[in-house]
Amino acid sequence: MDRVLSKDIGGFEGKEIAFTGWVDVRRDHGKLIFIDLRDRTGVTQVVFTPKDKDLHALAEKLRPEWVVTVRGAVGKRPVGMENAKIPSGYHELQATALEIIAEAKTPPFDLTSDGREIGEETRMKYRYLDLRRPRMQANVRMRAKINKFIRDYLSEKDFVEVETPDIGKSTPEGARDYLIPSRLYPGKFYALPQSPQQYKQLLMVAGFEKYFQIARCFRDEDTRGDRQPEFTQLDIEMSFTSQDEVLALIEELYTKMVKELYPEKKIKWSPFPRLNYADVMAKYHSDKPDLRENKEDPNELAFAFVVNFPMFEWKETEKRWDAVHHPFTKPDAKDKDEFMKLFAEGPEKIKALQYDLVLNGFEVAGGSIRTTDPDVLAAIFEAMGNKPEDVREKFGHILEAFSYGVPPHGGIASGLDRLIAILQNEPNIREVIAFPKTGDGKDLMMQAPSEVSQEQLKELHLSVEEKIKSNNK
Ligand code: ASP
Repeated sequence: MDRVLSKDIGGFEGKEIAFTGWVDVRRDHGKLIFIDLRDRTGVTQVVFTPKDKDLHALAEKLRPEWVVTVRGAVGKRPVGMENAKIPSGYHELQATALEIIAEAKTPPFDLTSDGREIGEETRMKYRYLDLRRPRMQANVRMRAKINKFIRDYLSEKDFVEVETPDIGKSTPEGARDYLIPSRLYPGKFYALPQSPQQYKQLLMVAGFEKYFQIARCFRDEDTRGDRQPEFTQLDIEMSFTSQDEVLALIEELYTKMVKELYPEKKIKWSPFPRLNYADVMAKYHSDKPDLRENKEDPNELAFAFVVNFPMFEWKETEKRWDAVHHPFTKPDAKDKDEFMKLFAEGPEKIKALQYDLVLNGFEVAGGSIRTTDPDVLAAIFEAMGNKPEDVREKFGHILEAFSYGVPPHGGIASGLDRLIAILQNEPNIREVIAFPKTGDGKDLMMQAPSEVSQEQLKELHLSVEEKIKSNNK
């Protein structure tokens, strides 16, 4: 007998079926035993009557989260006992056989509530159970729908999805790199990408013209607020483009996505307003203002672009000028000479072709038109404090690539974790990531980070300082 899913039960009225899933709850009503049996599509009510004594005795043993197969006939629920809220709510399964497939220990916490009352550490340790709760199921399933919507929309518009490496060379995005020691090349390291920035630009040199990727990014930052060591970006790059075209694309994508997947939500302004960075800072003292009328209303989406960013900001800790976005952003200067002149006059006055998308007080995307003149790019790296020989060593590949017929290009990247958290009315991004780290960067379920064996360290030509070893004991 084929497995029938909860959502389809109604179509089998009067028929014998097999239903497999988890026991959600068991209720004993006098002689009758009711089980809500759960599968990926919902729950179905199963009834055991005392007619068959053995079957009834077996059903009495059932506990929440046991995995079982029940056979029986699908019937209508008695009048007045229907539940209009669920697809299977007008029917029930009258059990004639029960097979226990796997028993379950009592879960460490309630799986039927929304889980907000449970300590996060416990939820993370048993994430595979936490994910069973309907709220988490909905978040993870919605995320898949969003990914699919993005893929369909961009593929339709002739974008090509390209996977770029996770093991490569560091790209400067202003954070610390995660490093991977090389076993084969003692003393050398790969870096996990802070973003696919350089690879996507090299794909433009390679002639793909329209690229996207749902890409993982890795940044070894101090754990602050709602950050994760790894996070997901919708990464986009286009050749022969303009700021207007990039902004129009992301605006249309998110407008259509909200309309289709979140019809209950209202986008406050259409088109999204374009606000001047300087005005926004003066008015809100933040470059990601919450522009909602009513900040309590999760169905109001106040999207806005922030434009006209400065190219550089002074980094007091390192005593140097740093790019506000990243060094690949195009400054408002026509060539190297003009750039050098403007930089000498006042780096803080140079504007960049850079833009952000903000939503309800968060930055949900950022990007820029890129510098494709290798001389200007090298000058920017030097302006940021790199010695000329370091520029060649660190960025020679991209400067060289730009000498082989580089198309003008630009793009944007959107932090999907944050966007989805806002759309799902979740307070933090951990709620929309299947297996997140805790706020302090730990995986409590798998126990990471963890120590490794002496042999592993030796193979990687590494040793751990003695005092760290004793602290870990
Ligand atoms: N790579 C940039 C970032 O991660 C986005 C971009 O410029 O396209 O912020």
